[in-house]
Amino acid sequence: MNIILLGPPGAGKGTQARILVDEHDMVQLSTGDMLREARTSGTEMGKKVAAVMDAGNLVTDEIVIGLIREKLEGGESSGGFIFDGFPRTLAQADALGALLAELDIRLEAVVEMQVDDDALVARITARSTCGDCGEVYNDQTKPIPADGKCSNCGGTEFKRRADDNEESLKTRLMAYYKQTSPLIGYYHAKGNLRSVNGLGEIDDVAGGIKGALDA
Ligand code: AMP
Repeated sequence: MNIILLGPPGAGKGTQARILVDEHDMVQLSTGDMLREARTSGTEMGKKVAAVMDAGNLVTDEIVIGLIREKLEGGESSGGFIFDGFPRTLAQADALGALLAELDIRLEAVVEMQVDDDALVARITARSTCGDCGEVYNDQTKPIPADGKCSNCGGTEFKRRADDNEESLKTRLMAYYKQTSPLIGYYHAKGNLRSVNGLGEIDDVAGGIKGALDA
């Protein structure tokens, strides 16, 4: 099954994608992770997008479509692909449609994760991740274990994202409402939109997604 996880920053797309990867052998394609990797490894493209990302703006369609094309052309996935944080504009959605048609890959569902803005701010400003495996923690709801070791991999380095601050979040939310939320109507019209409540415990949201995908 190939799916898109759609939702504002902090909706829990990455967390839920990781669960789907573990349970269904799916492959997570997160353009945010790919761009952060490009920055860390210091590629020309990574340097070019750094300031745009830190400010909370979207990088160009051309760059992210190129990244997705590379991954789809280069990799097989028996369990299917999870598009996480892509597409984020109508142009990206059109390009993805064309790319999937070209590669004969079927998009089964677009799962919209609904979360209100107050919850997003609270989640994002409290968020950190394991530097080794990417496990997501939250200062209030899922703190880093007292022994300082990641519960998933035992890693001891934890990071906060440079763009997880209130200033950048305002821009990211505005980008979501202006550029990404029209995709809800776009996929609704195509007939493969499923909406789930993204508030609540991680397992409950995972259950909601499972229900939506089984439906
Ligand atoms: P994310 O990890 O999905 O929250 O993405 C972090 C940042 O990477 C975003 O705020 C954008 O600057 C950039 N980014 C990630 N995915 C995309 C995309 N599909 N289109 C444009 N910019 C993106």
